[in-house]
Amino acid sequence: MVNLYPESILKLIQSFSQFPGIGKKTAERLSLYILHASSFEVQTLASNIIELKKKVKLCSICFALADNQTCQICSNQTRDKSAICVVENLADMAAIEKSGAFLGVYHILGGALSPLDGIGPDEIRIKELFLRAKNKNIKEIIIATGTHVEGEATASYISDNLKNTHIKISKIASGVPMGGDLKYVDQVTIQRAMYGRHKF
Ligand SMILES: [Zn+2]
Repeated sequence: MVNLYPESILKLIQSFSQFPGIGKKTAERLSLYILHASSFEVQTLASNIIELKKKVKLCSICFALADNQTCQICSNQTRDKSAICVVENLADMAAIEKSGAFLGVYHILGGALSPLDGIGPDEIRIKELFLRAKNKNIKEIIIATGTHVEGEATASYISDNLKNTHIKISKIASGVPMGGDLKYVDQVTIQRAMYGRHKF
């Protein structure tokens, strides 16, 4: 088969093909779009990508993505800093945020405990959570890890370690299906789970 495209287009198609959910056809379409776009448009796209890589870092408090030292939620004066919702990842945080059911702040663990895969407490940001929990102003920690085995194990570990502190430990209510990932759960279910949270 004769190759239609010069090397530089093939390289771009190859790059786009590595994006999640982008097949060869879409990669080809995107590359041709860029080929026909104005220089200004292409420059803007390229510099947005480079800026994102340079600027976006992890919030020093909750480990969400941030343009500055702290993320928009941690630096928002109206958020309740006495309540921390613990989630496994950014997508789970986004799901809860979208439900509008929580007005406190978050802690993103960056995964869940899974001894079989070699993921112990040191591999996720549990130490950082315990450090935050030392702050006397923290009144409640709401655990919203997944309902899969690893999520449950993580929830128990956190609750066991904070048992003898001044902090109320709660867990979002059932309604989130077993084995479920928060990011796939609809907003009403998340709202119900958050409002119906119970003491761990
Ligand atoms: Zn933050």
